[in-house]
This record gives sequence, structure tokens and C-alpha cells, in this order.
Amino acid sequence: MRYISTRGDQTPRRFCEILLEGLAPDGGLYLPERYPQVDAATLAQWRELPYHELAFQILSLYIDDIPAEDLRALCAKTYTAEVFGDADITPLRELEDGLYLQGLSNGPTLAFKDMAMQLLGNLFEYELGRRGEELNILGATSGDTGSAAEYAMRGKKGVRVFMTSPDGRMSPFQQAQMFSLQDANIHNLAIAGVFDDCQDIVKAVSNDLAFKRRYRIGTVNSINWARLLAQVVYYFKGWFLATGPQGGEVSFTVPSGNFGNVCAGHVARMMGLPIRKLVVATNENDVLDEFFRTGVYRVRGSADTHETSSPSMDISKASNFERFVFDLLGRDGSRTRSLFHDQIASTGQFDLSADPVFADAAGKFGFASGRSTHADRLATIRDTDRRFAVLIDTHTADGLKVAREQVEPGVPMVVLETALPIKFAATIVEALGREPERPAKFEGIEALPKRVVKLPADAERVKQYIAEHCA
Ligand SMILES: *Cc1c(COP(=O)(O)O)cnc(C)c1O
Repeated sequence: MRYISTRGDQTPRRFCEILLEGLAPDGGLYLPERYPQVDAATLAQWRELPYHELAFQILSLYIDDIPAEDLRALCAKTYTAEVFGDADITPLRELEDGLYLQGLSNGPTLAFKDMAMQLLGNLFEYELGRRGEELNILGATSGDTGSAAEYAMRGKKGVRVFMTSPDGRMSPFQQAQMFSLQDANIHNLAIAGVFDDCQDIVKAVSNDLAFKRRYRIGTVNSINWARLLAQVVYYFKGWFLATGPQGGEVSFTVPSGNFGNVCAGHVARMMGLPIRKLVVATNENDVLDEFFRTGVYRVRGSADTHETSSPSMDISKASNFERFVFDLLGRDGSRTRSLFHDQIASTGQFDLSADPVFADAAGKFGFASGRSTHADRLATIRDTDRRFAVLIDTHTADGLKVAREQVEPGVPMVVLETALPIKFAATIVEALGREPERPAKFEGIEALPKRVVKLPADAERVKQYIAEHCA
């Protein structure tokens, strides 16, 4: 399998070449040159496989530069019941007739990002070890991504993590999760500023090419292909759990921000998994819902980006969306480039409403969408608690609200549960008047010793810190 860029660069690259990279050199995103096809007979063979073996089967269709036995061992080491709390890894439970929740948030940091990041940690360690190289991951987080990255990379050989976060602005639970890690290769940098200041620092450091090369600076952001690929696996698992041996179609609803999660569903569907609809659920930051309703993709400014109670979906643009648009346009790289590079840069938007391909988004690719608000979240959390005695988090609530608008008789609808309620306790208290239950392993973490360094919002000081801790 070779990988190409969504902006027309056809230089074929293998999996391990793009594993440690972000964007392609032409500014596009990597995609496989074709989607391997999985037929009904293969699905039947895969139905009873344990999750880690299913992951190996799917990953091996895309990775041919890691020996099969090594890849199998990496998958087996990653997807264990000990780490994910359940033998199914992503267990399914039925809420009401035909409507299911698939739990993706039982990993170490209680959000779905663990599903991919845990594998990435093991792949990075493996590949860096093979090359005899080291990598210093520099990131910015307002919560979920940073903790998922740290828990995936902690104790890994050849990898250090320098994670900036806005000082005092994460929830006490999120701070405790990250800052209580005592691993020597994890560095928490609390920046005097807001999340944008942290992102600016990461950009400034990455733009200093000499520094970047000398200190081997890398990232683990959501456009990384390996992260997306790891997420493809749970759509297969969800389909197996929601269907009997006779198979049939299943729809998925995905609480969405950067379009990484639902893009993995798109890949699964392109491989031939019988997915009927892929429903994109957004919060008040409805860039994606607007596109699927109108054909207009309009990037928002920071004044137009709302701070909501499902904060991991508070995005102004959807960084993985370009992958889907490339497929929608029949894989026309120069057209994708003109939309994302030229039109977005000059006007902040593009409009496909008058283009015949826009109808394909729903017709050929199965996409639908919807939007949810703070009031919807509260109502959905209350309703789910009262009627089913199931406590869901705010992001999953956005998904469930939108899923109900898209259910079709006879087609199971699976809502992806993307975080556990304990991460967003304040809104749970607002909805229910009580604190969510805390998993035993997180009892009292706020009281643990914290390992964090406070720095001013100054890229030079962050560089200095990295240089001093890269020995
Ligand atoms: C990251 C995240 C999302 C959004 O996922 P995307 O891949 O960015 O669309 C939704 N819910 C939670 C809890 C998340 O952490």
C-alpha cells in the first residue's frame, strides 16, 4: 500500500514514512492510494475475532512495511481488557429498540482519543527503535488530546512529550490527570495565557526549522493517518456487535469536531463495511452540519467559535474534512487544492451547493448531519439518566440527540460514546444536581503530587526548556 496527498502530490510513500509526519509536503493530508475491499466472506471470518486480532487484520491491509508478526504483537499489546476495561474493548449497549451506544471511552484518559493514541505510542516506540532515532513531541492542549498523548507515550523509549496547556484553565480533573504523571519523559508546561497562546507557541517552534531538525520536534495531531486508521477498527467491531451472523446495514452517529472520528467511519464504509448512514453531530460550532445541509463550508473566526459544554467539539475548522472532500471530488487533487488552499485562504469558505457532486455526499457516501445545543445536552443527559439509568457525557449527548432525528426503522443506529461523564462533571451537576460516578482508579487524583512547570507565553522560553531537557 502506498500513500498520496489530497493536494495532488502523487509521490508514493509507505506507511512508516508517513507515520511520524503531519501534513504532506504540499500541505495536503495523506490517504491510501485506494481503499482495500472487504467482502462478505471476509467479514464472516472476522466476526468472532478478538479486538486486537481484528485490528491486526485491518491494519495489515494498509501497512506492509512492518513484519506481520511484529504488527500483530503491537496490536495485542495495545488492545487489552486491562487497559480498556472490557474484553470487547468497545462494548455495545442497547438503550432502546434499535438505538445503541458504543463505548469508546474506557481507556486510560476516559475519552475516545485513547483508542488511536495508545496504538500510536506503541508504533512510535517500535519505529523509532528500529531507526535508532528519538522524537520530541510538542503539543498544545485544552484537555483531551494532551492527556491521551501523555498516557500513550509515558515510559516509551525514544519519545519525550512537551505538552503546553493554558495555566489554570483546564478542569481540576483534567489537570490532575496530566500533572500527576511522574514519568521522566513527560513534561507538562503550564503557559500563562489561553489555548491560542499555546498553539501559537507550537507553531512558532515548528516554524523554526533549524530548531525543529536539531531537536527532532514532532506532533501527534488528529491529521496523523495512523490515528485515523486505528479508529477504523471500532466501526467494524460496532457493526459486528450490532448485527447477527446474517449481517445487514448499520448507521453510526458521531459527535464531531475535527472530523477525524467520522472520517474513519467513511474509510470503513469505503472498504465495503455495510454502513448505511454516517451522521455527523455537531454542537453550536456547526461548521460541518452547515456543509452537509447547504454545501457551503465556511471556516469560523475566533469571535465566531463558541465555548460550549462539549468543549472537545469547539472547532472553527475541521482539520480532517479535506480527506472526505478529496474523495467527494473523485480524488481530484488539484481541485481539492484550489478549494482548501486558494479559496479558503482568500474568502474563508467554499461553496459546492451548485455542483452535482454535492448530492453525492448524502447519496453515494451516506452522510447526514445535525446540531445540538447546551439545552439539548442537558435534556438528553436527564432523559437518558431517567429512562435508562445510563449516565452519558456532554459530547455523547450531542450525538444521541442528533441520532434520534436520523433513526430509520429496521436499521440499527449506533451512537459513538466519546467520553465519560466524569470528565465534564460541572455540566452533569447542572443537568442532574449530582456528581457523576468516578472510576475507582481516579479516586483522589486531585490530591496527588503534581509535575508541572509554569512558563510565560514565550516561544523562546519553551525552546530553552526543551533544549535543557533533551539530553
Ligand atoms: C476529540 C473529541 C471529539 C471530536 O472528535 P473529532 O475526531 O475531532 O471529530 C468528540 N468528543 C470527544 C470527547 C473528543 O475528545
